Amino acid sequence: MNVTEEKRTSSLPMDKNKQYDWHNLEIAETIELLQVAPERGLSISEVEKRLDAYGRNVMTPKKKQSAIVRFMLQFHQPLIYILLAATVVTIVMGEYIDSAVIFAVVLVNAIIGYIQESKALEAIDALAKSMTANAQVLRDGKKQNIDAQELVPGDIVILQSGDKFPADVRLVQVRDMKVDESALTGESVSVEKNTGTVPADVVLGDRLNMGFSSTVVTYGHGKGVVVDTGDHTEVGKIQQSIASAQDLDTPLTLKIKEFSNLLLWVILGLSAIVFVIGLLRGMAFEETFMVAIALAVGAIPEGLPVVVTIMLAIGVSKMAKRKAIIRKLVAVETLGSTNVICSDKTGTLTENQMTVQQVAAGGKVYEVNGLGYRPEGEVLEEGKTADLAGNQALEFCLKAGMLCNDSSIKEKEGQWVTEGDPTEGAMIVTARKAGFKEEQLEQEYPRQDTIPFESEYQYMATLHGGDNPAIFLKGSLEAVLERCTEAMHPDGTTTSLDKEEIQKQVEEMAAEGLRVLAFAMAEAPGDKSGIEHSDTESGMVFLGVQGMIDPPRKEAVEAVRLCQKAGIDVKMITGDHAITASAIASQIGLKGRKENGKLVAVAGRKLQQIQDKELEEVAETTSVFARVSPDQKLRLVKALQARGKIVAMTGDGVNDGPALKQANIGIAMGITGTDVAKDASDMILTDDNFSSIEGAVEEGRSVFDNLIKFIVWTLPTNLGESLVIILAVILASQLPVQPVQILWINMTTSTLLGLTLAFEPKEPGIMDRPPRPANKPILTKGLIMRSILVGVVMLITAFGLFIYEMDRGATLAEAQTVATTVFVVLESAYLLNCRSLIKSLRAIGFFSNMWVYYGIAAMFLVQAMFIYLPFMNTLFHSSPLDAMQLLRIFAAAVILFTIVSIEKYLRFRNIRKKEANAA
Ligand code: ADP
Ligand code: MG
Repeated sequence: MNVTEEKRTSSLPMDKNKQYDWHNLEIAETIELLQVAPERGLSISEVEKRLDAYGRNVMTPKKKQSAIVRFMLQFHQPLIYILLAATVVTIVMGEYIDSAVIFAVVLVNAIIGYIQESKALEAIDALAKSMTANAQVLRDGKKQNIDAQELVPGDIVILQSGDKFPADVRLVQVRDMKVDESALTGESVSVEKNTGTVPADVVLGDRLNMGFSSTVVTYGHGKGVVVDTGDHTEVGKIQQSIASAQDLDTPLTLKIKEFSNLLLWVILGLSAIVFVIGLLRGMAFEETFMVAIALAVGAIPEGLPVVVTIMLAIGVSKMAKRKAIIRKLVAVETLGSTNVICSDKTGTLTENQMTVQQVAAGGKVYEVNGLGYRPEGEVLEEGKTADLAGNQALEFCLKAGMLCNDSSIKEKEGQWVTEGDPTEGAMIVTARKAGFKEEQLEQEYPRQDTIPFESEYQYMATLHGGDNPAIFLKGSLEAVLERCTEAMHPDGTTTSLDKEEIQKQVEEMAAEGLRVLAFAMAEAPGDKSGIEHSDTESGMVFLGVQGMIDPPRKEAVEAVRLCQKAGIDVKMITGDHAITASAIASQIGLKGRKENGKLVAVAGRKLQQIQDKELEEVAETTSVFARVSPDQKLRLVKALQARGKIVAMTGDGVNDGPALKQANIGIAMGITGTDVAKDASDMILTDDNFSSIEGAVEEGRSVFDNLIKFIVWTLPTNLGESLVIILAVILASQLPVQPVQILWINMTTSTLLGLTLAFEPKEPGIMDRPPRPANKPILTKGLIMRSILVGVVMLITAFGLFIYEMDRGATLAEAQTVATTVFVVLESAYLLNCRSLIKSLRAIGFFSNMWVYYGIAAMFLVQAMFIYLPFMNTLFHSSPLDAMQLLRIFAAAVILFTIVSIEKYLRFRNIRKKEANAA
């Protein structure tokens, strides 16, 4: 060890490999051991040193299934068993080339499956990682938001309800802190934390002065010092149980698995029947066996499960580009069927760009000019600068806005922005416009304590010392009025409060769509150092209100319109005032029950009185819900679901978890959302914007379309191949296609041709049709009929040309090569038909998906190799063809394409007419 290294390790606070009983230590002891000042936190240089010594705060990922196991699992599919059995049988029969080819196909299938599955998993993992966790820390005396991976022992972290503990923490300060430790202890009741010490030998669940990584603050807030990070944390030690394994199963893939299993038995049964018929017809035993194998091989859609997973994964990455991160693969599918979206208002449907426009205090109403967060403008009384000294209620109303505030405004590259809550930013801007300065006020009224804003309580309060100790409070009108009996007059005196008068005034402001915040204060005893909810319960003095605009997002207006056109109900669920909510909802264009020309907004208080049964009706017909608490959100989701709705619901708070879980698609806000909300969600919006939900729905519909296109494209081939074999046995003819040739067809076409459908762009009018009913079968009767039609055309062409060639005196190899090529070329033509299930190529654009043409070109190239390369001739019993033979096949392909085009035209004439009329 050289000198510098020694110095470094010697100055480290603790020994990485030693077990400390942190819960048994006093706060002072802990802090000394970790060498940190709790008011300042660590210095940046110290952090770097500790990062070096203790490593980043990450858990070594749970050992995933090893690559070999995952590869072996590729063989663990009933359909593959048949192929493996075929390999063995052909070996026994001495058909070594055949067995080699069959086995090679199984192997290639496994390799492709393995690679594609890995890619899908990687894509999903990468997305999960792109959503890194943040932590609030105190470093160099400043509060800052950092990537939780950068945490080191000794860091001081600040925690609020909704946060996940980013590491193991010894709590040094708590305020009503309750923590859900179920991730660790399995105990679902939240534990109340404190800062005392507990005996060394108590179990995890009883270490009340500790916060453990991955557990969640459900209530209150506090501060702690990090004692263990990464693998050294308690969850790090037992992380096997929580590391989340990505589940690649969705209802669709499960249905396909079920289908495959059923198919297996059908195929085995058919093969047995064919075998018996063959023997009865006097075919040689070996030959009959080959026929049975050919049938089994031909009927198996080998590529189906893999392609479905890939298509879903492609959907996931497309959605990520549109700012929607999918956490559960199922969501991709469900999005296509969503028929109700319940969305937050502030920040999602609106800009969350708050500007105060009106202030009402001491019986007077003031206008505020200026736009955005630039603190330039004035508070005006009838066009003239307001006289603050002449109205103390106004003065304190503005002061309260600046002091009861945890945010700040800043000029960044010429733009004024809020750091923190935009609502609070707006209050600061207004106070600045009236001439107040933060530093000055903070000196005059030094803050002692805080009750932070929580949507459940709808208010925030701060306790201030100095010469005039006071409590300032701001919040929703209801929350503030509840706590006041007196109101302040312009001269500073107080008399009893006229609640009705104020409510009327606020309703006028709200009717214009203004979001209104009310303010109050109280004198505080000089010796008071802490503040509780009970301190603000009553006896506050009402100061006034500030009304701000928060304009609707333009893109949200458009997105709402698109959703409505697509048969999706959009509902607003907000914590804001009913009248404001209704006004904004009309501006955004929500539709729903109206009274006197205004959208009806049902308030949370009223929801409480409604019975579950009646709630269903209310939930369905109303589009605006105001002053809604999280538990009412849950009831709303349930009510809508009881009416058979597929509900997408947004949420950001701690208490939104249950509603997000209950919703068919729980959507968490990426920016304002808490960890709890994100954990409970199926999807996260990185920009909190409603239009991203709409975008995800579009992509979801498109993915599902493409999946069905693939299935519709692939099934006729299997059907056609099976029919060819069955017919051959019935006619006691020679096989038009041999098992290895069938394998060749199935393997090459599904990847080279079929997969290109995944890149089919959204069909025009994808948002002009209603959501897909969730219980609708994958294939409609029409599509099944089409599959049978195409399968039969393939049968006729392949068998017909085979017999024709044999009659002409061609060799068996030539005739079989013709039949094989029939399938390849007909599938290529049919691929073009399948680019849209109902629309013509012209309607969707001939060249809107070039991949299809590249795929066909590649397919023709490998097919040419199959036909002309001598070693391929050996492997696959194929033989070179001449131009006329090829020409006949291509002619058949044109005929197939035409038949399907006509079928599409006839079957969907009416639907298209309806769409045209609607457009
Ligand atoms: P929204 O559904 O619009 O996001 P919130 O749940 O965030 O509503 O807020 C509900 C109400 O609480 C608001 O209408 C406002 O009156 C009040 N409020 C919002 N933010 C704050 C804050 N930072 N401090 C005090 N009160 C607030
Ligand atoms: Mg909100």
